[in-house]
Amino acid sequence: MGAPTTPATTGTPPRPVPGVPPADRALTRPRRRLVAAAAALVALAAVGAGSLLDLRTPAPKSADAPADAFSAGRAYEDVKVIAARSHVAGSPANEQVRAHLEQQLRGLGLETEVQDTVAPEAGQLSGAAGGATLARVRNVVARMPGTDSTGRVFLVAHYDSVQTGPGGNDDAAGTSTILEVARALTTGPRPRNDIVFVLTDAEEACLCGAAAFAASHPLAADGGVVLNLEARGSTGPVIMFETSRNNAKLVDIFGRAAPHPVGTSFAVEIYRALPNDTDFTAFLDQKFVGLNSAYIDGGAIYHTPLDTPAAMDRGSLQQHGDNALGLAREFGGTDLTDLRSGHDATYFPVPGGLVRYPGWLTVPLALLAVALVAALGWLTRRSGRASTGRLAAGFALALVPIIAAPVAAQLLWLAITTIRPGYAELLDPYRPIWYRLAVLALAAAILFTWYALTRRRIGPAALAVGGLAWLAVLGVLLAVAVPGGAYLTTVPALAGALGGLVALRTRQTGPWPVVAVTAAAAVGVVILLPTVVLLFPALGMAMGGVAALVAVLLGLVALPVVDLLHPQAGGQRGLLALRARRLAVLPAGAAAVAAVVLAGVGLGVDRFDAAHPAPTHLMYALDAGTGQARWLSHESDPQPWTDGYVDGVTDVGDDFPGLGDGELRAGPAQSANLPAPKLEVVADATAGGERTLRLRLTPQRVARLATLHVDTSTATVLRADVAGRSVPVEPRAGKWGFGLVFHAPPAEGIEVVLTLRPIAGQVALRAMDASDGLDALPGFRPRPPAVGVVGSHSSEMLAVARTYPL
Ligand SMILES: [Zn+2]
Repeated sequence: MGAPTTPATTGTPPRPVPGVPPADRALTRPRRRLVAAAAALVALAAVGAGSLLDLRTPAPKSADAPADAFSAGRAYEDVKVIAARSHVAGSPANEQVRAHLEQQLRGLGLETEVQDTVAPEAGQLSGAAGGATLARVRNVVARMPGTDSTGRVFLVAHYDSVQTGPGGNDDAAGTSTILEVARALTTGPRPRNDIVFVLTDAEEACLCGAAAFAASHPLAADGGVVLNLEARGSTGPVIMFETSRNNAKLVDIFGRAAPHPVGTSFAVEIYRALPNDTDFTAFLDQKFVGLNSAYIDGGAIYHTPLDTPAAMDRGSLQQHGDNALGLAREFGGTDLTDLRSGHDATYFPVPGGLVRYPGWLTVPLALLAVALVAALGWLTRRSGRASTGRLAAGFALALVPIIAAPVAAQLLWLAITTIRPGYAELLDPYRPIWYRLAVLALAAAILFTWYALTRRRIGPAALAVGGLAWLAVLGVLLAVAVPGGAYLTTVPALAGALGGLVALRTRQTGPWPVVAVTAAAAVGVVILLPTVVLLFPALGMAMGGVAALVAVLLGLVALPVVDLLHPQAGGQRGLLALRARRLAVLPAGAAAVAAVVLAGVGLGVDRFDAAHPAPTHLMYALDAGTGQARWLSHESDPQPWTDGYVDGVTDVGDDFPGLGDGELRAGPAQSANLPAPKLEVVADATAGGERTLRLRLTPQRVARLATLHVDTSTATVLRADVAGRSVPVEPRAGKWGFGLVFHAPPAEGIEVVLTLRPIAGQVALRAMDASDGLDALPGFRPRPPAVGVVGSHSSEMLAVARTYPL
């Protein structure tokens, strides 16, 4: 190895060009640089466009598509029936949906039944704030027997909706997809394996339907492969975002059999950080393996009245169906006896498919990236392009944009939400594209400004190596903490280091250095650009800083290409150099202006109106014992409409333990003449210091849920049985130290058996039920058109409670 004998494209002054007058010499190279820059940028733009086009949803197939194909047109007919109105678990509307599903599946000649049972929630969810949670559920289960079954393939979606909206996407998308997949499968030859279609109930309440199926349905006894289909928005690509553990074989089949395989091992890590849960949770830690898919863009309508069939992007539905049908056929024909691998795979989408490699390569690759970047640094120093001091400075300074861009993005969003406070209650704005572009422009402005300020002192080579070094270091950190996400920085760092090494070792006067750094940057674009695009809807604008961080990492990988836009270091003197330096500030200035303009356009375009209302949260709570009523809101900074109902902050834990803990906004309300749930003593026996109370809790109105709490200063709860099922007796904080929440209570009431150790003479119990809809309440004024409802499980809730001393 030796230092290159020819001058570098970057870092050293140009060689005098014979025959060219001195005044023109300095211009010779800048022109060539500009041509190289233009060519490189066009190439990167083409690669970027290819990556983004690959994320496009397929065109929806019309209702007259071939019978063995999935047709979004046909599936959409079911969407309209399922999501005609809100159909929360236990409601008459949900019964009608269930009847439709049964009829459709029976019509296909499938063995169809309803699993009608009471089940506890799956896992320990956030919904458990009120206490142990259960629901009465009715799952629709249909089976297509295989010809020579090696196991079962379960296609799972929930048919219930939230109380606040019809669930046009969530989850009429998954439910209608399963009906259409079932139809397509019945037209062809029977699969080898059993296919079981599971349309679950009470997912929104507590995942109780899926939990009931996984734990106690005979068809689930031997486990199998679960494909869960969801929607958390209205549009965008369907992302396979969650898998069971040791997923390498499953991911391999996904990459092979799904016609549009969009999925990344990083999504699992992101998903774990989010407060969402799906039915898939109920199948984890059991004898199941599987994949969980959803489309997630258009999150503004999630769980709101706007989640209607009309809001659905039928391209997303087509993608759900194409993938589900392809996977059902593949798993239907595969030997299912051994689908667990010894390891998880790392995987991510690239144009034309899904890259995957074994997870055990994560750490070696991360270390290799560090070694190659170190080698690049060493060669850079040896070739005289940067001193050790400059390399160290480059490494230190590269941290500046990595930190500044996400911070600036968060500050930008803070400023936007200050101007438009209604955004605080939205998962994402209705038209987020302008804000997303503003965040990207802001990240670019920070990167370009930083580069313009540091480039002359530190030199382009040292900064490029410094940026790659951070990617390599992040790769090691991710490999340890978030293995599925390590590829995001490891692979671009590897590519960048290899590109740099090639650039240093090839003839500097030829095109190869530029080709090498451009190819390396292209790898970064393929990996990081789709990540940026998918991160925005996944996390929402409130966490736009994460997308800004990834955007800056992409910029650091592309630094050698960005550098071509700048005059060659040391290449100019005097006035020309000054002019060139001024030109170098152009990209930074343009990006900064773009950020401001785009944010302004966002504010101008994404105004709240009747079709895009500002979400508000309101509920009503009546103490039937005292007659005192209150309006309550979860809004931390109440909207003007909500302000008309609430004034101060309150803690309702003592009066309405069924609403969970935490501070709420509250204001006085007129008392409505509504009955509290009845609590009857069916039997009461004391033996050996233990009192056993057999109770019946019966809502006196149509209620979505009922709760029962025990004041644990009056008695210690030793055991609790609800509808014949033992529930955990885990202490809650506060006065009501034991509680249970029952969703979709049957009309005849819920039987609760409590075994207590009395402390006081009487035990105090608090019973509450909750219905949905505030319209009939005294003092309620309907919302004006531009005011909407927050997509939350407590929006528009009407709770009535009273204490029973027994
Ligand atoms: Zn949902």
